[in-house]
Amino acid sequence: MAAYKRIPLFLKIILSLFIGAILGHAWHSGFGPLVSLSESTGISGESFKWISDLVLRVLRLLATPLIFTAVIGSIIGANITGRKAGKLMWLLMSNTIVAILVGLVVANVFQPGSHLRNVFTEKGAAPEKEPYNIWNHLLDSVPTDFISPFQKNDIIGIILIAIAFGVAMRMLLLSENPALKSSIEHFQKTLNAFFQLTSKVLHWVFELVPLAVFAVVTRVVATKGLESLTGMGVWVLSVVFALLIMGAFYLIRMSISSRISPIAFLKGGKDAFFMAFSTASSAATLPVTYRCATENLKIKDENASMGIMVGGTFNHDGTALYEAMAALFIAQGIGMHLPVGQQVIVVIMSVIASVGAAGIPEAGLVTMLAVFKAVNLPVEYIPLLLTVDWFLDRCRTTINVMGDMASTAILEGRGDSTERLPAEPA
Ligand code: ASP
Repeated sequence: MAAYKRIPLFLKIILSLFIGAILGHAWHSGFGPLVSLSESTGISGESFKWISDLVLRVLRLLATPLIFTAVIGSIIGANITGRKAGKLMWLLMSNTIVAILVGLVVANVFQPGSHLRNVFTEKGAAPEKEPYNIWNHLLDSVPTDFISPFQKNDIIGIILIAIAFGVAMRMLLLSENPALKSSIEHFQKTLNAFFQLTSKVLHWVFELVPLAVFAVVTRVVATKGLESLTGMGVWVLSVVFALLIMGAFYLIRMSISSRISPIAFLKGGKDAFFMAFSTASSAATLPVTYRCATENLKIKDENASMGIMVGGTFNHDGTALYEAMAALFIAQGIGMHLPVGQQVIVVIMSVIASVGAAGIPEAGLVTMLAVFKAVNLPVEYIPLLLTVDWFLDRCRTTINVMGDMASTAILEGRGDSTERLPAEPA
């Protein structure tokens, strides 16, 4: 048990993937002992479904508190004012929109979901819908009472309440009334504690991920054959390709608007990028990102604090890109056409879901529920995404961190940084 605990989670997931693929393949190709086992016990590939269903249920349970506390926390934490704040907001927003558009274009061009049609159709196509009306959708999402969004796990309603409360709390924190200010501060601390509690439970759920991956892969390969996994390969390549385009976009935007060259940026930021890839957490990487920006790239502290410490808490472009691509991927897989209005909802929800992703491992997968629910995509396929998410999470986290650092460099602009450079020898 102690030896098992020492194995890093991603290795456990890779092992589960292989074991599941071998077992599923043996089942699919009619390996004698497995066939007799099925006949005598009634166990089949389908019997593993409950394991991935269980993980999905817990993820849905955690989505509500995680998104609620993360959205409020980001709004309160974004302590920015003045012209630089406006510039930062514009930078972050435009980067995120570009990220989502890149994701949507790549998903439309490569059609990764179409390679998994035989896997996805097992549940049947998505239900027929009336002509889609984006305004009705947004109007219907406004809660009419405080309790039901939480009761029904209605993520859009919860996000709207979180935004309203976050903005109100920020205003009340500036209050002249010390008693009111102090009770809001207490509430803020409680919310933060609640966020930490949710993250802790999410951490336990991660320990179940190898089991869920084993179950999904065994079931899919046993029922659909090994070829079904090649579709996941196309999915991984498409996401990595889109993330690379996003990385290139940062480098171009930064070299136009800052004094830092792309090579210097990549060299100076490499510690942060490696740490992001190895921890899959942009929040845990924040101190290293800050150090790389101020010490290696000689960015002024005021710009680094704003771009990294403030921007980094709610800016997750890699996650936004991934969420939008995943929605299209699943829609393609089940043969569901997403009209333009629904794609706009995907864009809006991906922005919100990336803010709510909170910079911790796999958070994007939890907040993805919001995007799926907003456009009526079946969430049953999310466990399938788990099989490769250990890798894609690391890739998108690296882009999240790169985005923080690029925005910081642009915030610094072409300004003089000589006060931070070491003195020339006489
Ligand atoms: N792991 C990502 C991050 O920390 C969030 C996500 O799951 O997309 O930035």
